[in-house]
Amino acid sequence: MKKVTKTAALILAMAMTVSALTACGESSATTGAADTETADDGAGTTDAAVSDEAADDAADAGSTAVTRTEGVITFGTNAEFPPFEFVAGTGVIDQYDGIDMAIAKQIAEENGMTAAVENMEFDSLIVALQNGQIDAVIAGMTVTEERLEAVDFSTPYYTATQVMIVREDSDIAAAADIADKKICVVQGYTGEVCVKDMGYPYEAFKKGTEAVMELANGRCDVVVIDSATAQKYVGDNAGLKIVEDSAAFESEEYAIAVQKGNTALLDMINKAIDAKLADGTISELGVKYTEEAAAE
Ligand code: GLN
Repeated sequence: MKKVTKTAALILAMAMTVSALTACGESSATTGAADTETADDGAGTTDAAVSDEAADDAADAGSTAVTRTEGVITFGTNAEFPPFEFVAGTGVIDQYDGIDMAIAKQIAEENGMTAAVENMEFDSLIVALQNGQIDAVIAGMTVTEERLEAVDFSTPYYTATQVMIVREDSDIAAAADIADKKICVVQGYTGEVCVKDMGYPYEAFKKGTEAVMELANGRCDVVVIDSATAQKYVGDNAGLKIVEDSAAFESEEYAIAVQKGNTALLDMINKAIDAKLADGTISELGVKYTEEAAAE
């Protein structure tokens, strides 16, 4: 119950914070305002940048091909990131289920289209988008300055943070404590970027489940990973707990990525996200999927 409540609180914080564009407090030297402090008054929210041109671009969207297959938005994801995307017996899009998958489906439907999913490694998503293999990425993907150089991001729809998963008997209480510990991360995740920026040695795994297995088996001491996913793993594996350090790990915002300059698709996505944030649908999805995870 405690876990659910905490996650719900995080979800309710969605779209209320300014975008820090980095995952780690200490390493955000180039982000300008709100570097080390996350303002809590909602000033300077990131969606201001998209709202102005949205109406004009939407008018242009009309008959031009905004996606690779007409009438279909092909979303790339990495279905290894519960509760946002995972493979299920019956998912909301084919076998794919989770908060992101439900959002993707609703975005497509709001625009009179259908949603398709291409499942691939997290590391391959941005390249696949750039190559036109997929139309958009929805993968619990954090907006970062580096990624912004390669893709355009939608209005953020979820606020998260990196946390540390440790064994229950661990003496790790803060990020500084992991300096001389064996650290596991997942390759290409912002957790890896954080640990790298901190200057600590680490081992990177392809999947979160692999890193968590190393931890459970005592072959590593800490896994640095996104908060909601960490809660799912701790719920699934006895003997593990979460340690937070909000000074070391700043809040992150998840958003949907499209090819640079695909404003027609971005506007369609943003309109749907804005509506789903405003009417509470995304918040409800967050609660639904975290409760399901906790109840398993
Ligand atoms: N939020 C993290 C990132 O963007 C992890 C995302 C994921 O694994 N799907 O790197």
